[in-house]
Amino acid sequence: MEQKKIGKFIAKRRKDLHFTQANLAKKLGITDRAVSKWENGKSIPDASLMLDLCQLLEINVNELLTGEQIVMKDYKKIAEQNLIELRNQKEKADRRLLTTVKILATLSCISAVVLILMGTLLTKISQFLGIMVVILGTILIFVTAIYAVMIEHDAGYYECPNCKMRYIPTRKAVLLASHYGTTRKMECPYCGKKGYHKKVFTK
Ligand SMILES: [Zn+2]
Repeated sequence: MEQKKIGKFIAKRRKDLHFTQANLAKKLGITDRAVSKWENGKSIPDASLMLDLCQLLEINVNELLTGEQIVMKDYKKIAEQNLIELRNQKEKADRRLLTTVKILATLSCISAVVLILMGTLLTKISQFLGIMVVILGTILIFVTAIYAVMIEHDAGYYECPNCKMRYIPTRKAVLLASHYGTTRKMECPYCGKKGYHKKVFTK
């Protein structure tokens, strides 16, 4: 997917239909800065806006993603390529997100342990201050753990070892499951068996 080509195509269709950037932005409920960023190839339209944008520009989503009007004979092939590419981009973003969260969570846990140790030492000088620092460290651990689990839940899927189905569990199920790393003990919604479900990034 070429952002620059998509941007030029959006600009061309917009001008063909005699819209200004501001007109188009207003119809979509976004800023004209966002439209300008698309047209300059700095970003591509959010998936949630694509259908409305295509309707306004009188094109279809595959034409938008390809950056040109498609003749019918190439249509199916190009549609499939675009879907594969969208999926790959999502997968890459999910992997990146999870790695970032792992690093942040580790740093945060180290800080929390340092806080708790410091608090314990501090109680010798001021009990109140010491206890407050220990509480702060404990809260930090809990907040980090919950946040990390929520991100893990949102990125990708879990695979049942029994029936091999891939699914997105509820947040509560992920949060309460015992685990090692990102592999969690949960109940499969398809076959109903409990087991250790591995994190995967494709459906
Ligand atoms: Zn299953």
